[in-house]
Amino acid sequence: MKLVCLKCENCDATSEINVEDNVTIVFCSHCGTKKLLDDGTKKIEHHIKNEDVARITESDNQVKLKEIELAHKEAKLKADQEKFETRIGLVVIIAVAGLIIAGVVAAISSCG
Ligand SMILES: [Zn+2]
Repeated sequence: MKLVCLKCENCDATSEINVEDNVTIVFCSHCGTKKLLDDGTKKIEHHIKNEDVARITESDNQVKLKEIELAHKEAKLKADQEKFETRIGLVVIIAVAGLIIAGVVAAISSCG
């Protein structure tokens, strides 16, 4: 229960009335014009704010998901690159070993 000071838009009468906390609509005691209490508007605003917060949280989650996705992609790319580098390294080692063997074989055959 609270005391509300109302100014009627229809008859300009000012009246103080006691209303329950959950009451959002009152009527002018002079002309009976319906009037919405400010609390009702505040509740609507609050509701919108909550929805906005939910939307922000949702988009935050989407950003986080994308970040995770990106991190996974980067890790995969790095792993692939490392595999590629290892393969190149192996090819180089085999090539060098082949050249050494060929050189040794050539040296041996030239001696004989
Ligand atoms: Zn009135």
